[in-house]
Amino acid sequence: MSLNKEIYTDKKITPTATYRNFPMVPRVIYGKGSFDQLGDILLPRRKNSDAPVIFLVDDVFEDGELESRIPSIFNDLILYIDADEEPKTHQVDALVDEIRSRFSEAPSGIVGIGGGTLLDLAKAVAVMYANKGSAAKYQGWDLVQKPSLYHAGIPTISGTGAEVSRTTVLMGPEMKLGINSDYTTFDQVVLDPDLTRGVPKEQWFYTGMDCYIHCVESLNGTFLNAFSQSYGEKAMDLCKEVFLTELEPCESREKLMMASWHGGMSIAYSQVGIAHAMSYGLSYVLGTRHGLGNCLVFQHLEAYYPKGVERFQQMMEKNDIQLPNRICTGLREEELEKMCRVSLGMTPLWENALGPQWRDKINSDILKEIYLKI
Ligand code: NAD
Ligand code: ZN
Repeated sequence: MSLNKEIYTDKKITPTATYRNFPMVPRVIYGKGSFDQLGDILLPRRKNSDAPVIFLVDDVFEDGELESRIPSIFNDLILYIDADEEPKTHQVDALVDEIRSRFSEAPSGIVGIGGGTLLDLAKAVAVMYANKGSAAKYQGWDLVQKPSLYHAGIPTISGTGAEVSRTTVLMGPEMKLGINSDYTTFDQVVLDPDLTRGVPKEQWFYTGMDCYIHCVESLNGTFLNAFSQSYGEKAMDLCKEVFLTELEPCESREKLMMASWHGGMSIAYSQVGIAHAMSYGLSYVLGTRHGLGNCLVFQHLEAYYPKGVERFQQMMEKNDIQLPNRICTGLREEELEKMCRVSLGMTPLWENALGPQWRDKINSDILKEIYLKI
């Protein structure tokens, strides 16, 4: 992985490495009610009436008001998907098989409507329809060979930054890891803050804290540069407004949606850090969901992110959130070991958090001590 660090001297900047040239979402529409423009947005992408648009939709919207607003025409397909479990490689493979078996023509596009789970599924299906084999083969960095199908993402809960990132995080047979590729990034995003109206409070907080923790980890990381910082600081300010001040619900939804976007942009050019690395271990062994897992770990990281953790506690108090506890008590030694192994396998995250000599600063014993507090 190439770093993006610079040594600043008095008069000149000396680059120490080549810089990553990463893609951004080329088209984005923002605004309350902008979802209703989706039909017009998709129209020029339709290859013919036999090439459907596949809508992957969080099943929380099934039979609801949103259903009638999905611009499905011709032989388009709407698939409702349960987001209670995080996306898996075999689930992506099954979806691709289903689409292949139902339609002789390649789809005109894939549209994901939901939180990080549905956005990641839509990205993965778009990538995997165009590439051979199982999604598990492509978990890692830049392994995808062929361009994906056209795909659009429509978040209905804010925080993950999945709408803007070049990864789709999947639980595979051997690891939880993203398909990180230039072809993963959405071709189109629709940011309609009204879609996040029904999010339950706890979930709002956990997914919102994912964004906050992205900011803390990016802004305190060794990979930070002015590009990441500019987005990270904006996202951080928005998070502080949303979680520590009184806002009208509508304003709060709008600001958190933009915080998520900026937080995602910030980590695009830097990385996340310790909470994410440890949350991956938690999720792999116990299935703990991303937002909650990050919160569970982050509350105990005062030694690494003192200011960030202090503010996190204030945010919990202000919003009257109680995290579940005793999650890791009773774990078998081999389960704890596995958590540590998965976590310590996230090299770029540790390197961002603790620098190139990170292996001298962290080990399984330190991680176990933190896990056992959760
Ligand atoms: P989610 O998609 O897992 O959804 C969480 C819950 O909120 C679900 O029960 C869902 O049904 C519900 N929900 C969503 N929108 C709703 C609405 N408008 N009204 C009522 N309920 C609603 O939540 P998430 O936290 O956004 O996503 C987590 C996933 O995102 C994880 O799988 C994680 O790995 C992934 N992720 C991906 C990236 C990336 O860059 N690709 C970054 C961070 C996290
Ligand atoms: Zn995250």
